[in-house]
Formats: sequence, C-alpha cells, structure tokens
Amino acid sequence: MLKTHRCGDLRAEHAGERVTVAGWVHRRRDHGGLLFIDLRDSSGIVQVVFRPQDAPQAAAIAEGVRSEYVVRIHGEVALRRPGTENPEMPTGSIEVTAAEAEILNASETPPFSIAEETNTGEVMRLKYRYLDLRRERMARNLRLRHRVVKFIRDFMDARGFLEVETPTLNLATPEGARDYLVPSRVHPGAFYALPQSPQQWKQLLMVAGVDRYFQIARCYRDEDLRGDRQPEFTQLDVEMAFVEEEDILALIEELYTDLSAEVGAHFTVPSPFPRLTFAESMERFGSDKPDLRFGLELHDLTSLVRETEFQVFTRVIEDGGRIRGFVVSGGADIPRRGVDALTELAREAGASGLVWAQFSGEGPLDGLTADDVRSPVSRFFTPDQLGALAAECGGTRGDALLMAAGPDALTSKVLDVLRRRIAEDRNLADPDTLAFLFVTEFPMFEWDAEGQRWSAVHHLFTAPYEADLPLLETNPGAMRSHAYDIVCNGQEIASGSIRIHSRDTQMAVFRTLGIGAEEARVKFGHMLEAFTYGAPPHGGIAPGIDRTVALFAGERDIREVIAFPKTKSAADPMTGAPAPVSPQQLADVHIALDEEARLALEEAAAGAPVGDEEDA
Ligand code: ASP
Repeated sequence: MLKTHRCGDLRAEHAGERVTVAGWVHRRRDHGGLLFIDLRDSSGIVQVVFRPQDAPQAAAIAEGVRSEYVVRIHGEVALRRPGTENPEMPTGSIEVTAAEAEILNASETPPFSIAEETNTGEVMRLKYRYLDLRRERMARNLRLRHRVVKFIRDFMDARGFLEVETPTLNLATPEGARDYLVPSRVHPGAFYALPQSPQQWKQLLMVAGVDRYFQIARCYRDEDLRGDRQPEFTQLDVEMAFVEEEDILALIEELYTDLSAEVGAHFTVPSPFPRLTFAESMERFGSDKPDLRFGLELHDLTSLVRETEFQVFTRVIEDGGRIRGFVVSGGADIPRRGVDALTELAREAGASGLVWAQFSGEGPLDGLTADDVRSPVSRFFTPDQLGALAAECGGTRGDALLMAAGPDALTSKVLDVLRRRIAEDRNLADPDTLAFLFVTEFPMFEWDAEGQRWSAVHHLFTAPYEADLPLLETNPGAMRSHAYDIVCNGQEIASGSIRIHSRDTQMAVFRTLGIGAEEARVKFGHMLEAFTYGAPPHGGIAPGIDRTVALFAGERDIREVIAFPKTKSAADPMTGAPAPVSPQQLADVHIALDEEARLALEEAAAGAPVGDEEDA
C-alpha cells in the first residue's frame, strides 16, 4: 500500500505515530510561514501542516500543489494546539506534521469546486461526473446506496430468498412503456427488447419451483423523462409462490422498517404502516400516493351546496359531479396574491377556477358576519353557509377553505395539487419523517380514451378480485385487483400484485384488454403454456432502489443517488452516448437510417453534438 492510514481514520490516539497518508488536495492555506493542506481520501479529510524550517523539501512541494493534486505525505500525527481543534471534523483534534511529501499526480483546475458545494449545472456535473462524485454529498450518497443494497441482500437471504439473474435480451412485449430495442445480427430484421422489468421471468421462476426469488435488477423504459425518471433504473424485484397479498405486504413492511432502523435512524417512521384502499386514498387525499405527513384531508361538500344559488356548483351536481374541499389551518393569513397563485395552479390542473373562503378571528365558526368572511362567492352564500362548509372540513375561524367542483377525477387532481403546494409553502411536511403506507385494491382496468380501449392499471398479469370476475364481461371498470403500492411522503416506492396463475383467467383478461387469441399466442404463448404445467399461486412487488436511496439520502431527484445517470434527454454528456455508429456496424445489424435520422446526423456533424442541451 502507498499509505499506512486512511486520512479520515486518524484520531488523538494516533498522536506520536509516524504515518503515511495519500489523497487529494482538498484545500491549501498559506499562513505566512506555515502551510496547511486538507488532504482527502474516501474516508474523510485530515489536516497536514508543513513547517519550512523543519522540513524544507516537504514545504516546497506543498508550496507548488494546487486543488485536487494527488499527493503522498509522510509525517507524524500530533495533537492540535488547544484552541485550534475543529470539533466539526472527525479528525479535528489532530494534524499530521509533514516530514516528506511527494506529488503522485498533478491536476488541472477542476471545472467546479470539489470542496465547496457550489451550484453547478447538471450537464457540467454529468460531463465531469468523476469529479462530481468526489464531492462529499455524492460520495455520501454512493456509500448510502451500497449500504441499502447490502442490507437488502442480507435481509432477503436471511428469509430464504434466492437471487437469480434474468436475461436483458428479451422478447418485446407490451408491458406499458416503450421498449429499448436491440437489433439482432444473426437474425436479420429481428430485435430483442431490454427488460422493462423481469416480470415474466420471475413468474416463470415460480413455475420453475423457486418459490422465493429476488434480484437487484436493472430495468429499461424508453419514456419521455419527467422529473425523476431515468431510462434505466434499478429495482428490488421480488416474487413469492404460495402467498397472499398480506404475506407480501408484511415482508415489505418488515424490510422498510428494518432498513429505516439501519440507514435512517434519524428519521421518525410511524408504524405500523397505514393501509388505505385506492378508493379511500382518492377520497381522502385525491391521490393514490398521498403524503401522510400532513392533514389537509378532503371532504365531500356536495350535499351542503345542493340547494344553493351558486350555479357553478349546482350545474356540476346535476351533471353527476361533486363539490369537494379542504381547510387550511391558519389559512386566513394567505395573502391575495397567494390565493391567486393557488387559483392559477388549480387552472393548470384543469379546473375552471378555485372557490375559496377565508375566515377571520379565532374560535368556532358560528355567528359569522359578512366582515368575518372573505370570498369571491360571498354573493351566493351567507357567511353561515360558508362557515358550515368549512366546519364540515374541520375548520375554525382563522382558516381558509378551498373547494373544487367537477367529476371526481378532476377534483381529485386539482385538490391533490393544491394540498401538495400548500404543504410545501407552509412547511407542513416534516422532512425528518418517513410516512410509509400501503395503498391496496387498485382498480383492475382503466379506460384509455385515446386508444378507445381498456388498459391494465398495474400490468396484465395482475389478478382480479375473485368476487369481481363476473364483471369482466359487463363492467371491467368496476373490477378491483390484487395490486398494491407502498408509498412514502407522497411518492410511490413500489408496485406489485398477486398474479393470475390460471391460463383461462389470463386469456379472459387478455380479451378484455383487446389482445386476441392469436396475439396472445405470439406474445405470451410461453407464459400461457407455462401456466398449464402446474403454476403455483404467486405474487410479488418491485421497490425502486433509486427512489428508496433518495428517500433516505433526503434527495428529491434520483439522479443524485445514481453514479452515472442520464440527462433529461436520456443522454450522457461525458461519453456522448447515444452516438452514431459506423455504416459497417449498421449494416451488420441490417439497419438502414431513415431521412429524419440522416438529417439529424448531418446537423450533428455540422455543430451540436448529440446529447448536448441546456443546463437544466
Ligand atoms: N414488474 C412490476 C413493475 O415493474 C412490479 C411487480 O408487479 O412486481 O412495476
């Protein structure tokens, strides 16, 4: 080894020892006569002091180094003089007095500071990701990810799960998203697809008798990348045979409880995890991924406004819609422009407007006068009528009431957006709480208005409620499925389901989805055939590893916990992927480019490299 100790490991008990340390120059300070270098390696930082009169050669070297030079230092560990200790640093009670120094490698001036967490654009960070990863925050996230994955492997192993790798070159099947395709050289015109998830493989493993499977699996989905999506991401893929929904939920609850204790001890994790049915979640929060760290629960106000003069409401009710709302505690203080911003947000979410009321004073909402209420609809309602609406939502004087009118899909969407924004504006969500919950009983199908057909809410292998099977032919939209999610702080962490294991039920579900017998044979023949050889009842789930790590790291964006992520346009600014290949490579895989591709390549050759984009 080129070193005897790691920088971050040195402590007061090493005082007097002669050590060799090596790493990067984190910072260098010249104190007229005395030189200091903060030396960094993966374990942390130690201060090295150079005294020209005692070690002139070492001091001369220190004089010449710059940030991020790689150096090796030989010297003695000494206690820092009283008053110069740094309690913020684990090594802050000591320093290394350099006797000899050696430059192992020089460094260009980095394009951004490693020592300071300056605001650096994403493309820059990704282009120099190897430098970005040197920064403390990213190094910490990588370490956390390692611990999470190691914990999961040990946890699953201790419970008898087998980790099995499944292929990445697969048959393309309709699983929801668009596939990444890989052309075949030996089968001209044929393609593999990268897995959107190992869904079919894990079900086939159940038929194969592996009754407890898991895999830390990479998945690929060619989607337009919104916010926290990545074209490739990692799942803890799980499948179990001879289980019911409850067994899977219990396993996942134990996993996340234990994982929280292991890597998230500073978080409060309410337990047991609440369970909400999809219908209940939509009714109370307008969302199937509610953030339970704050209230702002929705209430149905339809019956209270049915007889009023306000036609915006009464018309919606005549059309079968509902009036729903919630109360913001203390929301009487929201200024006019705050209310306007919320109204704008409601419009963006599809509402024609936002109906609100603010109540001044304190105490119960009775005996209200016109002076006590501020509302754009006070012409249509008496102060007491508005007060009664707010009271129905649990409000008091001093609060604000927000209402939306329309079909449930619309009011849910609008009120969910408002809930989240208000919680953010008013800091209602405790950042140190992880509020896990399960959402169950998802609908089996949803109507795809664009495609004019039913599509699977989870995926097409999900088992319907036995009792709802008769609805397959008559009212698929009313069918419940054994699909479930685990949600935390307003985000979906995992989805899963009990699967169909009977060939006949699977065929019937395909039919409802508009997949005819021939298409089923071509695309899913292997699954259907496997089901005829004694497929056991089975089910599974697939928590997102990236999302899980981001949660424990306190990061919003999963790219902060992925070593080498892609940009929002699925490009890698460092390597330049995706990039054109040679005509020979194209010919090998029997691919000819179309006009659009040729033009794009010409443009790229003339200027902008592929994957170049604005800093996000
Ligand atoms: N394959 C599913 C997904 O990726 C998860 C599951 O049903 O186990 O969402």
